[in-house]
Amino acid sequence: MQMINCLQNSRRLTGGTRDSVTYDSEACGRHILVFGKEMQERISQLTIGICSLGGLGMLLLEQLMRLYPGKLIVVDHDRVSRSNLNRLTGSTYLDANLDIPKAQLAARHVWSFNPKQELTVVEGDFLELKQQEQFRECDVIFSAFDRIGPRLAANQLCEIHGITLFDVGVGAVVKDGTLQAAGGQVIRVVPGAGFCLSCADIYDKAEAAADFMDMREYQNHLQMGYVRGANIAAPQVYALNMMTASWAVWMFMRLLAGDHCDFDGVAVDAFDWTAAPWLEERKSVNTCPICGNNGMALTGDDGTLLVHRRDVSPNPPTSIQDPILDRDRQRHAESPANLTVPTDSQEIPKPEEDGSDSEINELPI
Ligand SMILES: [Zn+2]
Repeated sequence: MQMINCLQNSRRLTGGTRDSVTYDSEACGRHILVFGKEMQERISQLTIGICSLGGLGMLLLEQLMRLYPGKLIVVDHDRVSRSNLNRLTGSTYLDANLDIPKAQLAARHVWSFNPKQELTVVEGDFLELKQQEQFRECDVIFSAFDRIGPRLAANQLCEIHGITLFDVGVGAVVKDGTLQAAGGQVIRVVPGAGFCLSCADIYDKAEAAADFMDMREYQNHLQMGYVRGANIAAPQVYALNMMTASWAVWMFMRLLAGDHCDFDGVAVDAFDWTAAPWLEERKSVNTCPICGNNGMALTGDDGTLLVHRRDVSPNPPTSIQDPILDRDRQRHAESPANLTVPTDSQEIPKPEEDGSDSEINELPI
């Protein structure tokens, strides 16, 4: 039997935690030809979390759902806007006009592909405890937030519960209208492997501070101009998201197939046309309070999750006053195809199956 190099330290990725294994063998046939049936069986035993459903997260979802994982859990608090349409997989002008939650878009996207996919959709802020608790059962989490605070929260959650984390991000630098840099990164953090996002010199933790302020502090810092990136539209390109998300899923698949990998991530330099493996420097004495020798890694429910004290989102969805949009909203609400996403974190009832998917041939392994 092949060992899963690099992931073998994680107690959650040596075959997944689910008992039953079902997948459409015909639909999966072509990637089984590449990676083998054993990899497919492992994927179909996994519960995979995707945190944030923006341009990157929806592309991760698009690729991962077609691998027929055992279960998907997704979270986002935001709504589809017209400025998202250049990069949000599955989104339409109508979604933007109706201001639908991205969580609802994700549910529609997954179940229109595979009505039998087990899926939990969480609509809400990941920095709240009740949202994070939904992800404790995951075997692997893909984090695609555009802010550092929730990335660190996902890192802490994964360390505490022994979940392998793929932290995925993109960025582009434009100065005076000229592209200066563009790239992305995939960082795999395995609990117990000697580093995490908190102790590694990867993210500016001071920049994350705004994410954990209460509402009053946040508004004060915002007015003073101390919140970096607030209300500034970041350059975003679908192709950059796509190549970075693809590296993340490719790395995940090869690791699950048992391929050897002695690096911790992939750095994508889209400006200079390269993608290179990346290795984090381990500290000889790890004093990190999260992953260090006396840290909270693998403490399970005894560990402390990283949440904020804010009880209101700093960017509440805008209420659009428009008679045409109101009419569209009313029609949408009356549509039998409408998927209702609860405002609280809970299982969304699946759409009725009409038998048209009977060609999907689930095979117990
Ligand atoms: Zn650490």
